[in-house]
Amino acid sequence: PVNTATIEFLSRSANEGFARTAAACFAAQLDPTLDEINDIKTAVSEAVTNAIVHAYPDRLGRVKLKLRLFEDSLLEITVQDWGVGIADVAQARTPLFTTGNEERSGMGFTIMESFMDTLRVRSTPGKGTTVTMRR
Ligand code: ATP
Ligand code: MG
Repeated sequence: PVNTATIEFLSRSANEGFARTAAACFAAQLDPTLDEINDIKTAVSEAVTNAIVHAYPDRLGRVKLKLRLFEDSLLEITVQDWGVGIADVAQARTPLFTTGNEERSGMGFTIMESFMDTLRVRSTPGKGTTVTMRR
Protein backbone atom coordinates (compact mmCIF):
# COMPACT_ATOMS: atom_id res chain seq x y z
CA PRO A 1 0.00 0.00 0.00
CA VAL A 2 1.04 3.61 -0.55
CA ASN A 3 -0.76 4.78 2.56
CA THR A 4 -2.37 3.16 5.59
CA ALA A 5 -4.22 4.23 8.70
CA THR A 6 -5.68 2.14 11.49
CA ILE A 7 -7.95 3.13 14.32
CA GLU A 8 -9.23 1.00 17.13
CA PHE A 9 -12.14 1.89 19.35
CA LEU A 10 -14.64 0.48 21.81
CA SER A 11 -17.93 -0.89 20.53
CA ARG A 12 -19.88 2.16 21.69
CA SER A 13 -22.45 3.54 19.29
CA ALA A 14 -20.88 7.00 19.66
CA ASN A 15 -17.87 5.66 17.77
CA GLU A 16 -19.83 4.81 14.61
CA GLY A 17 -19.72 8.45 13.50
CA PHE A 18 -16.06 8.71 14.43
CA ALA A 19 -15.18 5.70 12.27
CA ARG A 20 -17.33 6.86 9.36
CA THR A 21 -15.78 10.31 9.35
CA ALA A 22 -12.24 8.95 9.74
CA ALA A 23 -12.77 6.75 6.67
CA ALA A 24 -14.11 9.71 4.70
CA CYS A 25 -11.11 11.84 5.68
CA PHE A 26 -8.71 9.08 4.64
CA ALA A 27 -10.53 8.64 1.32
CA ALA A 28 -10.31 12.38 0.65
CA GLN A 29 -6.74 11.95 -0.65
CA LEU A 30 -8.26 10.12 -3.64
CA ASP A 31 -10.00 13.36 -4.63
CA PRO A 32 -13.36 11.58 -4.69
CA THR A 33 -16.70 12.99 -5.74
CA LEU A 34 -19.27 13.69 -3.04
CA ASP A 35 -21.18 10.61 -4.22
CA GLU A 36 -18.09 8.44 -3.83
CA ILE A 37 -17.43 9.77 -0.33
CA ASN A 38 -21.03 9.14 0.65
CA ASP A 39 -20.87 5.56 -0.67
CA ILE A 40 -17.74 4.89 1.39
CA LYS A 41 -19.26 6.45 4.50
CA THR A 42 -22.42 4.38 4.13
CA ALA A 43 -20.50 1.12 3.71
CA VAL A 44 -18.23 1.83 6.68
CA SER A 45 -21.21 2.83 8.76
CA GLU A 46 -22.94 -0.50 8.06
CA ALA A 47 -19.85 -2.58 8.86
CA VAL A 48 -19.00 -0.69 12.03
CA THR A 49 -22.62 -0.68 13.19
CA ASN A 50 -22.66 -4.46 12.79
CA ALA A 51 -19.57 -4.78 14.97
CA ILE A 52 -21.14 -2.50 17.58
CA VAL A 53 -24.63 -4.04 17.53
CA HIS A 54 -24.04 -7.74 16.83
CA ALA A 55 -20.48 -8.68 17.76
CA TYR A 56 -20.67 -7.82 21.44
CA PRO A 57 -24.30 -8.31 22.55
CA ASP A 58 -23.58 -8.14 26.28
CA ARG A 59 -20.24 -6.39 26.67
CA LEU A 60 -18.04 -3.72 25.16
CA GLY A 61 -15.32 -4.96 22.89
CA ARG A 62 -12.64 -3.78 20.48
CA VAL A 63 -13.37 -2.77 16.90
CA LYS A 64 -10.57 -2.10 14.43
CA LEU A 65 -10.93 -0.05 11.26
CA LYS A 66 -8.05 -0.45 8.84
CA LEU A 67 -7.75 1.80 5.79
CA ARG A 68 -5.34 1.01 2.99
CA LEU A 69 -4.71 2.86 -0.24
CA PHE A 70 -2.93 1.13 -3.11
CA GLU A 71 -1.11 2.61 -6.10
CA ASP A 72 -3.96 2.22 -8.57
CA SER A 73 -6.25 4.29 -6.29
CA LEU A 74 -7.70 1.08 -4.88
CA LEU A 75 -9.09 1.68 -1.42
CA GLU A 76 -9.36 -1.29 0.94
CA ILE A 77 -11.34 -0.98 4.16
CA THR A 78 -11.27 -3.66 6.85
CA VAL A 79 -13.52 -3.73 9.89
CA GLN A 80 -12.58 -6.36 12.46
CA ASP A 81 -14.06 -7.45 15.76
CA TRP A 82 -13.32 -10.19 18.28
CA GLY A 83 -16.94 -10.85 19.14
CA VAL A 84 -19.45 -13.69 18.81
CA GLY A 85 -18.86 -14.31 15.11
CA ILE A 86 -21.31 -15.48 12.44
CA ALA A 87 -22.26 -19.16 12.16
CA ASP A 88 -23.50 -18.99 8.55
CA VAL A 89 -21.99 -16.12 6.57
CA ALA A 90 -23.89 -16.91 3.35
CA GLN A 91 -27.17 -16.74 5.23
CA ALA A 92 -26.11 -13.51 7.01
CA ARG A 93 -25.36 -11.90 3.64
CA THR A 94 -28.82 -12.70 2.28
CA PRO A 95 -30.94 -9.55 1.84
CA LEU A 96 -33.43 -9.08 4.70
CA PHE A 97 -31.83 -11.74 6.91
CA THR A 98 -31.39 -10.45 10.44
CA THR A 99 -30.97 -11.81 13.94
CA GLY A 100 -31.57 -8.31 15.28
CA ASN A 101 -34.65 -6.64 16.70
CA GLU A 102 -37.33 -4.71 14.80
CA GLU A 103 -34.91 -1.77 14.37
CA ARG A 104 -32.80 -3.87 11.99
CA SER A 105 -33.79 -4.54 8.41
CA GLY A 106 -31.18 -7.13 7.48
CA MET A 107 -29.80 -4.97 4.67
CA GLY A 108 -26.35 -4.06 5.98
CA PHE A 109 -24.30 -6.55 3.97
CA THR A 110 -26.43 -5.94 0.89
CA ILE A 111 -25.76 -2.21 1.17
CA MET A 112 -22.00 -2.78 1.62
CA GLU A 113 -22.04 -5.01 -1.46
CA SER A 114 -23.84 -2.48 -3.61
CA PHE A 115 -21.85 0.58 -2.48
CA MET A 116 -18.42 -1.07 -2.78
CA ASP A 117 -16.88 -3.16 -5.57
CA THR A 118 -16.06 -6.23 -3.50
CA LEU A 119 -17.06 -7.50 -0.08
CA ARG A 120 -15.40 -10.37 1.78
CA VAL A 121 -16.69 -11.62 5.12
CA ARG A 122 -14.58 -13.94 7.25
CA SER A 123 -15.99 -15.09 10.56
CA THR A 124 -15.42 -17.74 13.18
CA PRO A 125 -18.06 -18.29 15.86
CA GLY A 126 -16.67 -17.30 19.24
CA LYS A 127 -13.60 -15.68 17.66
CA GLY A 128 -14.87 -12.73 15.66
CA THR A 129 -15.53 -11.28 12.24
CA THR A 130 -13.49 -9.47 9.59
CA VAL A 131 -15.20 -7.57 6.79
CA THR A 132 -13.04 -6.42 3.88
CA MET A 133 -14.35 -4.03 1.25
CA ARG A 134 -12.67 -2.57 -1.81
CA ARG A 135 -13.44 0.06 -4.36
P1 ATP B 1 -29.36 -3.74 9.28
O1 ATP B 1 -27.91 -3.72 8.94
O2 ATP B 1 -30.22 -3.57 8.08
O3 ATP B 1 -29.70 -2.80 10.39
P2 ATP B 1 -28.67 -6.34 10.23
O4 ATP B 1 -27.48 -5.74 10.90
O5 ATP B 1 -29.37 -7.43 10.94
O6 ATP B 1 -29.71 -5.20 9.85
P3 ATP B 1 -26.81 -7.13 8.18
O7 ATP B 1 -25.94 -5.97 8.48
O8 ATP B 1 -26.97 -7.52 6.74
O9 ATP B 1 -28.27 -6.90 8.77
O10 ATP B 1 -26.27 -8.39 9.00
C1 ATP B 1 -26.99 -9.62 8.92
C2 ATP B 1 -26.77 -10.47 10.16
O11 ATP B 1 -25.41 -10.88 10.21
C3 ATP B 1 -27.02 -9.76 11.48
O12 ATP B 1 -28.38 -9.76 11.84
C4 ATP B 1 -26.15 -10.60 12.44
O13 ATP B 1 -26.81 -11.80 12.80
C5 ATP B 1 -24.99 -10.99 11.57
N1 ATP B 1 -23.80 -10.12 11.75
C6 ATP B 1 -23.40 -9.11 10.95
N2 ATP B 1 -22.25 -8.56 11.35
C7 ATP B 1 -21.89 -9.23 12.46
C8 ATP B 1 -20.76 -9.15 13.37
N3 ATP B 1 -19.79 -8.25 13.20
N4 ATP B 1 -20.72 -10.03 14.41
C9 ATP B 1 -21.70 -10.94 14.59
N5 ATP B 1 -22.77 -11.08 13.78
C10 ATP B 1 -22.87 -10.24 12.73
MG1 MG C 1 -26.26 -4.39 9.91
